[in-house]
Amino acid sequence: MATGARPVYIDVEHRGFNMNALDLRDKITDRTRAIVVQHTFGIPADMEQILKVAGERDIPIVEDCCHTLSSTYQGNTVGSYGVASFYSFEWGKPVVVGVGGSAMITDGDLRERMLRKYAEHKYPPLAKQIRILCQYFVHHTMYKPKYYWTVRSLFRRLSSMGIAEGNYSNMHDQPVSPDFRLRMSRYHQRLLIAKLTSIDRINAHARWVADQYKALIPESVVVHPKTSPLSSVVYSRYPLVTPNKEQILKKAQAANVEVAGWFATPVHPVRRENWSHVGYEAGSCQNAESLAERVLSLPTHRRVSGKDIERTTRFFSEVST
Ligand SMILES: *Cc1c(COP(=O)(O)O)cnc(C)c1O
Repeated sequence: MATGARPVYIDVEHRGFNMNALDLRDKITDRTRAIVVQHTFGIPADMEQILKVAGERDIPIVEDCCHTLSSTYQGNTVGSYGVASFYSFEWGKPVVVGVGGSAMITDGDLRERMLRKYAEHKYPPLAKQIRILCQYFVHHTMYKPKYYWTVRSLFRRLSSMGIAEGNYSNMHDQPVSPDFRLRMSRYHQRLLIAKLTSIDRINAHARWVADQYKALIPESVVVHPKTSPLSSVVYSRYPLVTPNKEQILKKAQAANVEVAGWFATPVHPVRRENWSHVGYEAGSCQNAESLAERVLSLPTHRRVSGKDIERTTRFFSEVST
């Protein structure tokens, strides 16, 4: 939208979290310029079918890898299929350094153009750098799944007061956020590189946590994700699907168990009354609308301990009786 493009939303698969290649084929027109494929929760999209549909029309693919740095599909790391892929390192992502992200560009022309644009980007003003850094250290040293609900309401309060750096800017009120022309501070770049060197440890932990959830959470009230044998998944969050979403979220809050309710709508965090602001037409992605009413997710990040897993699995056993 910031470039003047009009987004057309593609539905998710019937029993999945990612783009449905058949709906993609239906919605492509002569005016389609790019296909943005998201690998939700770290689960690789059905790239084989999507590449086939994109290839018929020679339309470039851009992969949204904000939920994954390391999941693989047919042995290749996701993010290596398109002309470009992008990553985010804000508060809810697999690697956290505060706000900011990166792009990986394989197409030569696009890469040149992006580099020229990026050369014009400025470092954030010092006060902003310091604020993000303070927020990072608070998050890094104090955050635990037990504090999820408290931190969440505190963060919302602080970001509505303009104190904390949030993670979503409303395209409707402000078509192009000035933040789009900022680069990561040098400190944050170094922090990111340091974290990326320990990505194997982060991934091993996330895999272990997800395996525990899979083995220990009973299937009576929730459905576990099913993944393709072509994929090796590092979950950024472990999704569960349930008809009792609101009820479970309320109970989880009361029990201080980290359970997240996003995506609450297909274009989270945009609420139904504002869907037109992001060009989403009600009913255009019915699987996604229905899934948003049923999806929950559990953390897999490094702060999830064996005790947290125990509390979480006990919580789900109790809500299902
Ligand atoms: C967080 C996220 C983004 C946006 O990242 P920012 O760094 O907040 O701009 C995009 N796509 C997905 C799937 C995300 O989870």
